Amino acid sequence: MTSTVPLPEDVRLPRIGFGVYKIPDDEVTEAVRTAIEAGYRSIDTATLYGNERGVGRAVRECGLPREELFVTTKLWNTDHGYDSALRALDTSLAELGMDYVDLYLIHWPQPKLDRYVEIWRALQKLRADGRVRAIGVSNFSEEHLRRLLDETGVAPAVNQVEAHPNLQQAALRAFHERNEIVTEAWRPLGLGPELFETQVVRTVAGKHGKTPAQAVLRWHLEMGHVIIPKSVTPERIAENIDIFDFELDAQDVAGFATLESGARLGPEPGAG
Ligand code: NAD
Repeated sequence: MTSTVPLPEDVRLPRIGFGVYKIPDDEVTEAVRTAIEAGYRSIDTATLYGNERGVGRAVRECGLPREELFVTTKLWNTDHGYDSALRALDTSLAELGMDYVDLYLIHWPQPKLDRYVEIWRALQKLRADGRVRAIGVSNFSEEHLRRLLDETGVAPAVNQVEAHPNLQQAALRAFHERNEIVTEAWRPLGLGPELFETQVVRTVAGKHGKTPAQAVLRWHLEMGHVIIPKSVTPERIAENIDIFDFELDAQDVAGFATLESGARLGPEPGAG
C-alpha cells in the first residue's frame, strides 16, 4: 500500500503516482494498466501529453471503482484565459471520458501573458462546481505563488516542480511548507544513470539492499515530496513503487545533501 498526503477538503493525494509524459496514446493504456496492477493509484497526465484518452481508457477498464484512483491533468499554455480555462477542462474531461478529475494544475505560469491569476480564479470555479476535487499549479516560483496568495487568498494544493538530488528545491519547499502547499517532484530520477553511478546513491542503495532508482525515490519521500516517476518497462514500474519497506537515515540524507548542484534539466519556472 502506498500512503497519501492530505489536500484541502478531505482529498488525499497518493505519495507516489505514475507519470505518463511522452508515452504515446496508443501505448499509455497498457502502461497505466501495468502501473495499476503494480499498486499505483495515482496517474499524472496533461493536455500537452496527448494521451488523456488512453489514460481514461485504462482507468475505465482496470476494474477498480473510479473513486479509488486519483487522476491529475494540466491546463496547457494556450488556454490562459478565464473562459478558455473552463473550456480546457471540458476538453480534458471529454478526452478522459470522466466527469471529474482529482487534481487540475496550471502547467506553466507564463508570466509574459500575465493571466495566471485570472485562470487561478477559473480553477476555483471548477472546484466549486465539483468538476475538479483539488486545484494546484506547476512550475511556479515563489514570486508567482505569492501573487496567487495575495490576489486571491487561495493557496494551490500542490506545486509540481522539477526536483531531484541535483536540484533539491530547499527554499521553495520551505515556502511551500509555510503555506501548506504540497511539493510534487517531476523528473524525480534526475540525470538517471549518471546519478545512479554516484558514490552516494550507490552506497545508500547497497546499504538498504535496494536499486539506485529506489534509493533516489525514497530520498524524495524523506524530503516530503510527492513523486510521479515514469517508465514503460513493467519491471521498472514495479521497482519504482517498491519503496515503502525501508527508510533513509540521517547519514543517508546527509549524503544526498552533497549532491545539490542547482542543475536544472528542464526550463526555468518563468518559461513555458
Ligand atoms: P522520470 O524521472 O520519472 O524518469 C526519467 C527516465 O528514467 C525515464 O524516461 C525512464 O527511462 C527512466 N527510468 C524510470 N524508472 C527507472 C528505473 N527504475 N531505473 C532506471 N531508469 C528508470 O522523468 P519524467 O518522466 O520526466 O518525469 C516524471 C513525470 O513527471 C512525467 O512522466 C510527467 O508526468 C511529469 N512531468 C511534469 C512536468 C511539468 O512541467 N509539470 C515536466 C516533466 C515531467
